[in-house]
Amino acid sequence: MNVHEYQGKDVLKQFGVVVPRGHVAFTEEEAVEAAKNLGGELWVVKAQIHAGGRGKAGGVKLARSLEEVRTYAKELLGKVLVTHQTGPEGKEIRRLLIEEGCPIEKEYYIGVVIDRSSNSVVMMGSEEGGTEIEEVAEKTPEKIFKEAIDPAVGMTVFQARRLAYNINIPKDKVNQAVKFMLALYEAFVSKDCSLAEINPLITTTDGRVMALDAKLNFDSNALYRQKEIVALRDLTEEDPKEIEASKYDLSYIALDGNIGCMVNGAGLAMATMDIIKHYSGEPANFLDVGGGATAEKVTEAFKIILADEKVKGIFVNIFGGIMKCDIIAAGVVEATKQVGLEIPLVVRLEGTNVELGKKILNESGLAIVAADSMADGAQKIVELVK
Ligand code: GDP
Ligand code: MN
Repeated sequence: MNVHEYQGKDVLKQFGVVVPRGHVAFTEEEAVEAAKNLGGELWVVKAQIHAGGRGKAGGVKLARSLEEVRTYAKELLGKVLVTHQTGPEGKEIRRLLIEEGCPIEKEYYIGVVIDRSSNSVVMMGSEEGGTEIEEVAEKTPEKIFKEAIDPAVGMTVFQARRLAYNINIPKDKVNQAVKFMLALYEAFVSKDCSLAEINPLITTTDGRVMALDAKLNFDSNALYRQKEIVALRDLTEEDPKEIEASKYDLSYIALDGNIGCMVNGAGLAMATMDIIKHYSGEPANFLDVGGGATAEKVTEAFKIILADEKVKGIFVNIFGGIMKCDIIAAGVVEATKQVGLEIPLVVRLEGTNVELGKKILNESGLAIVAADSMADGAQKIVELVK
């Protein structure tokens, strides 16, 4: 789960991570009010969307008067911002973060991730902040330093100091940087983050070390014990089909292609997407209906696929192990009864109750193309959507 920058900064602040003072604003008036409350002579008006790259795309503005705050707030609110992370359709700006402007001395990068190869949380740092870290990793990988953190011990002061020195934090600010890193690690672990990216971490000309930007992702499997985080969810930032799917506990991810897929098991779902691609088709989604799905759940899943206007054909690929083929068949029939089916449907069923499943489909009167194998089914649906 993602949250907005201002929400991420609020969370970090609770753990002692230093962030600029700021307020969220939903309207032009609120933006000006926020700037007045902050005081000072320089403000930053920042678009709050669930995507990075806002600076380059014109979503971060420096305002030197309250009038400028108003002008920028007016310009940004309601605008669709396209950054390299939003895709070409962009994202509408509905919230702004109004912050005190900070006199930047230098920008650094700090990222915290869960690293599978070391079985631990890793904190990465670089003195190449502000730019995209992917670019640094490609061109100057020697400028990225990593500390793997023992989960039993936590991040040690020694590790934080080493990282601070490695990324050339000025000596007089190393202690602040160390505190920053330890607090960031605490926040990461306590809040079940899957990613925390501070780009940039800055030193200021008036001697501070702080997070100028913050991107936090949270592990969805831990949300049951992170009620305050769940409360931060902004549904307007999410795909409506994915929201619907999450209500029924379905693993659904919308993609750009035109072949809807209904599959059981994440592995089979991935393999199905691969084989569609192999035959030059493009999957419209990843969907794992899971093992113990009911006919109702399958019905909802099928309706979600059909609700996607890009979908020009559907491939149902089920290996009935725990999931029974007749349940899938009943769900498909029920969903099409409710919403109709005007596009080709290829079904490959195998496993438990397969005969019963096929019978239900045959007797439904639906125009279904049966497939004998996964490859056969993929070829058929790719051909049909052409
Ligand atoms: P992103 O482009 O979406 O990652 O947004 P950031 O929050 O990282 O902001 C982009 C850039 O705006 C930063 O790298 C800074 O250069 C600039 N910026 C943001 N806040 C301030 C500020 O308070 N003062 C100054 N001078 N620049 C800022
Ligand atoms: Mn940034």
